[in-house]
Amino acid sequence: FFIYRINMIKGSCCCGVIKFEISTVPDMMGTCHCSRCRKLGSSTIVFIKKESFNLIQGKEFIEIYKPESPFSYVRTFCRKCGTALGEIGSESESFPVPVNCLDDDPGLRNQFHVFVSSKPVWYEIADSAPQYQENPA
Ligand SMILES: [Zn+2]
Ligand SMILES: [Zn+2]
Repeated sequence: FFIYRINMIKGSCCCGVIKFEISTVPDMMGTCHCSRCRKLGSSTIVFIKKESFNLIQGKEFIEIYKPESPFSYVRTFCRKCGTALGEIGSESESFPVPVNCLDDDPGLRNQFHVFVSSKPVWYEIADSAPQYQENPA
């Protein structure tokens, strides 16, 4: 027998009422410099496969924020501590979650920067990942 041991990657909100784990390395990691992501404190995100995501506890604390038009991306956050949780628990095959929420090394590093045209002057990009002024087509 070969026994494959999967090391779960754990994640949680700041206050700890929301805990989750992912069973595979996320699909990708990227940084969005748009004002929306910046204000939510969720600029660097990982895309998590729905099938690899498991919410351990705290479903009742996940609050949904639906922005007004022209903005369309729904965001979630912890109702108790305010931690931004991206689109955690989305029905999409793969959904973004701020890498800040992870407690373990996700096994990949930042792969791109988008909306660099909206980046504030005080933020200096310190990695060599490709940069896009807007969203790449
Ligand atoms: Zn919390
Ligand atoms: Zn953004």
